[in-house]
Amino acid sequence: MHEAPIIGDTPALDLANTHFAIRGNPVEGLPNKEALERWLTSMHTNQGLPAVSAVGSGGLASFIELRGAIRMVAQALTVGDGEIRDAVDRINDFARANRTNPRLVTEHTDLIARYESDATGMRRLLAEFAWDAIDLFGTERKKLLRSCPAPDCPLFFIKDHSRRKWCRPSCANRVRAARAYRKQRSTTAPGSGVSI
Ligand SMILES: [Zn+2]
Repeated sequence: MHEAPIIGDTPALDLANTHFAIRGNPVEGLPNKEALERWLTSMHTNQGLPAVSAVGSGGLASFIELRGAIRMVAQALTVGDGEIRDAVDRINDFARANRTNPRLVTEHTDLIARYESDATGMRRLLAEFAWDAIDLFGTERKKLLRSCPAPDCPLFFIKDHSRRKWCRPSCANRVRAARAYRKQRSTTAPGSGVSI
């Protein structure tokens, strides 16, 4: 069983990237409730998202649905294809499930703003990912959104550094190794016309 990569650029893309590939073969990173629980636990530990106790089958279906919508919009923004109206509606539906109530509270002698959610459990978690997608797709951050150019890699990432070209170091290594292999073939077999 292969775990989906958590690149950590932003939660919405980490969810999108649970649809990944190993050596060009597509892999479903959320095949069942248990896999989603493990992934959400990792997201809680590594990305500070709310903790989850148990996932029901409805929760799994909702996460897969939200992931499909996020991937569709990310694809449209990076590759430029696809009709995204339904996907945008779905993201908004998931986001709407969580209303946040601002409150002023007194701490010692200071006034602090607190934002309290009125949703709990799975609805709140889904909304966190949907809110993150809205913040990514609807702000200047979307200019840095990229789909990984490595062959058969379906992952998205944020180009947060001018020299970053790939989703992960493993994709950079794979592309470099393929290049080196091609170069070696062309020098050992000149004129063979073989290209890989
Ligand atoms: Zn990649």
